[in-house]
Amino acid sequence: MIPSQAFREYGDAVARQAEEASARLRTFMEAIEMLGDVSNEFLRNSVIDFMGALVYRYGTVAAVLAADFYNETAASAGVRVDDALIAEVDYDAAVSGSVKYAARRLFDQNPDTEAFKQACMAVVSRFVKKAANDTVSKNCVRDRRKGARFARVPSGTETCAFCLMLASRGFVYASKDTAGEFDHFHDGCDCKIVAGFGDDAGVEGYEHGKYLEMYEDALAYDAYGLVDLDETLNSMRRSMYGTIKDRRNARRRELRAARQARGQDGESS
Ligand SMILES: [Zn+2]
Repeated sequence: MIPSQAFREYGDAVARQAEEASARLRTFMEAIEMLGDVSNEFLRNSVIDFMGALVYRYGTVAAVLAADFYNETAASAGVRVDDALIAEVDYDAAVSGSVKYAARRLFDQNPDTEAFKQACMAVVSRFVKKAANDTVSKNCVRDRRKGARFARVPSGTETCAFCLMLASRGFVYASKDTAGEFDHFHDGCDCKIVAGFGDDAGVEGYEHGKYLEMYEDALAYDAYGLVDLDETLNSMRRSMYGTIKDRRNARRRELRAARQARGQDGESS
């Protein structure tokens, strides 16, 4: 069982890499804009090149963090595995596709450079985190004969219905197929692919049964009696809305309390 603190620390460490890549991308885009009269094509193409380099650099660090985390998970489960491999951080084609998609905001009737920049920052962050998740799945597939399984564990404040559906499956046996099914990360997704071995598999605080219940409650069928995935996800979104709102409000209260506490400190000193 992975302690919740270890899971959180791992998630935070990966998030820091993603944030740094994202901040550097913003600085880069602002520098391009300061050149003055640059075309949208130039901005888009420069971002594609620079983002490729950022994803490689920060993604590799994230992958190394994930490899360490994998080694620790195996060791604490008492399973001997070879040193974890690092996923190949080779997302150039996908990065380019995502930036081109984001660039539709530049070529709109009403071009919106800020929206393009925001979208690109989300993209770079997604690929850095993906490098970590890919590393864990790669090693789980390698070690499947040693009983390696993996789960999709939501973290962060917001989780989409699709993520919850995958999370509801709990720890599944690792294979190329299951790795493919779990390989879908949207912008802003903080899900982590986590390894588990035998009875030890688990993350403290992660109850896939809770997600399974939500999924089963939401299950919708089409006219042929097959699961209608879109409708199921919509129904999950509707049922999740309450929890998301509660969490958001709780977070706001926390921030407000922290601000007030700081204010009081300021007055007393
Ligand atoms: Zn997610």
